[in-house]
Amino acid sequence: MPRPVSCLIKPASSRCNLNCTYCFYLEKQAIYPWSTNPTMSLDTFRLFLDQYARLCAPHLTFAWQGGEPTMMGLDWFQQVVEAQIRAGQHDNLLEQMVLGRASVCMLAPSCGYVVLEHNGDCYPCDFFVEREWKLGNIHETPLETMLEGERFRAFARMKPAHHPQCQSCEWFSLCYGECPRYRFIGNGAAEHQLSYFCPSYKRFFPHAHKRLRRTAETVARDAGLAGAPLQVPVGALH
Ligand code: SF4
Ligand code: SF4
Repeated sequence: MPRPVSCLIKPASSRCNLNCTYCFYLEKQAIYPWSTNPTMSLDTFRLFLDQYARLCAPHLTFAWQGGEPTMMGLDWFQQVVEAQIRAGQHDNLLEQMVLGRASVCMLAPSCGYVVLEHNGDCYPCDFFVEREWKLGNIHETPLETMLEGERFRAFARMKPAHHPQCQSCEWFSLCYGECPRYRFIGNGAAEHQLSYFCPSYKRFFPHAHKRLRRTAETVARDAGLAGAPLQVPVGALH
């Protein structure tokens, strides 16, 4: 069985009424040129939810994005929440709303969540909603098959293919070589490349790690985890 993954749902695809100049997702309409008003059906969402819950419960994480997902309207989301609660994810929903835990992957050891587009197409990351990275369509291919497929595995192999500098970096346990998307910048490839933001991290971590550690200790204490081992990068010991 595949490991638990979080998911990013794009019910209105690239549709948006704001048109922010920095948005990288508006251009995705080029991938769905036949769809001028992309709208996810509840059937598509329920089909995905059913398979996702069977594969990954109780570790289900939902994030909503687009475009602008609220363009789907309140009725649509009320029905979605009912379906999620029926799927037994009340606690996860609350956790996401209260704690905001959703698809924080850039500084994690590995990539991996699933993007669900309005028509059921699935991708491994919304930075990589591109034809070459399409995993399949939930109406045609079971989610489990997609997550075990070679394309998802190839995507997952990108992040751990670190640059030699990362392998000996004192901040590695805080950064893990960073997001492959930012390794492409200026390099044209993600494997064995340094992140565009690496110089910034190397300034930020020495400046902030002591305060980060104090905050982590406070959070752990408030959560009743006082004394639990914290992840301490080599640099923090200096
Ligand atoms: S490429 Fe970056 S944003 Fe996408 S899953 Fe990997 S770490 Fe996350
Ligand atoms: S700070 Fe730079 S060298 Fe260190 S792990 Fe991150 S990307 Fe790699």
